[in-house]
Amino acid sequence: MNIRVLGCSGAIAAGYKTTAFLLDDDVLIDAGTGVGDLPLDALAAIDHILISHSHLDHVLGIPLLADAVLRLRAAAGRPPIQVHALPETLDALRRHIFNGVIWPDFTALPSREAPVLSLHAFQIGERLEISGRVIEVLSAAHTVPAVGFAVDGGAAAQHAHWVFTGDTGPNPALWTRLAELRLSHLVIETAFSDDEAELAHVSKHLCPAELGEELAQLAGSVDVRITHIKPGEADAVMQGVQALSSPHRISALAAGQEMLL
Ligand SMILES: [Zn+2]
Ligand SMILES: [Zn+2]
Repeated sequence: MNIRVLGCSGAIAAGYKTTAFLLDDDVLIDAGTGVGDLPLDALAAIDHILISHSHLDHVLGIPLLADAVLRLRAAAGRPPIQVHALPETLDALRRHIFNGVIWPDFTALPSREAPVLSLHAFQIGERLEISGRVIEVLSAAHTVPAVGFAVDGGAAAQHAHWVFTGDTGPNPALWTRLAELRLSHLVIETAFSDDEAELAHVSKHLCPAELGEELAQLAGSVDVRITHIKPGEADAVMQGVQALSSPHRISALAAGQEMLL
């Protein structure tokens, strides 16, 4: 399995795209602005979208993707793209995006019988089977209902997991679960620098000092990639991260990087 970073920034600017990961060529994990860099045929190949939470930087690619691929997928007789998320997240999409005001209801277009999108609820702790892969829904602690994901690399990878925390503040439940899994990579957010620790606290994100406390709960030496840094903040955040005394191998994630499982 291959996971490509389409976007991993906390906001936009030239060269900075918000959160989106492409698992092989058919599963999208979060749908931030990074999705827009894929060619049309690659967009049309996406059959599943897993969404961590309802915030705009993670969902805005869904309505635009649906519009972009509707004709191609209908002409090819392809099934609806399955959007998987918590019930609260799906409800937010229905009420605030696909409401006929912000965007048409693509769960009923081009027809109610054969729409381009279908919505599927999951629960925290569920192990989803997505086209032969197993993806576990992890808890997250954010300002809205939110999750992370653990992609199981399967028997060939001795069940090593690629883990994405989603947007989250300190989250003890995550470390309890991760203690039971083999990890290949941990993609964890650090949205703010230590100077902005108060902002990180109220918005339920991490800053480097909190990241250090979180990673202290993770045994061994893991390949840790930092995500969701705001454009222009990378030096401040990574200075704080590099100052941590941690047994883990920590680096900043970058768009275009690929991680093999
Ligand atoms: Zn968020
Ligand atoms: Zn975010």
